[in-house]
Amino acid sequence: MTCPCCSGKSYEDCCQPYHKKEKFPPTAEALMRSRFSAFAIPNGEYLWETTSPNKRQFHHKKDLQEWGEINKWTKLEIVNKPTDYKVEFKAFYTDEDGNPQIHHELSKFKMIQNRWFYVSGEFLD
Ligand SMILES: [Zn+2]
Repeated sequence: MTCPCCSGKSYEDCCQPYHKKEKFPPTAEALMRSRFSAFAIPNGEYLWETTSPNKRQFHHKKDLQEWGEINKWTKLEIVNKPTDYKVEFKAFYTDEDGNPQIHHELSKFKMIQNRWFYVSGEFLD
């Protein structure tokens, strides 16, 4: 299957190795893409584990899993060129009532012991 992150690659050659923990995403953008795919699959555990350890208390695996399940994730668009630590994106999805939605966010990431983690996001219009 084609990877949900819209890279144009197959899932096996794109985000799946990250989800299976065979390797770690090399950049903040790669992590962001793999997190979008993890909502689409969904894989709440991966979303939780790639959240910065000091922010995990604000998130729950079950909620992340449910948020992935109730929405249909249709497209990811990276907006502007990502910097090392920030990625702006639009996540397109259809909510449980069948309404198309766009989640526009500027996400912040950080690296701890050579692994990227999601820190927080600023929601944009
Ligand atoms: Zn991917």
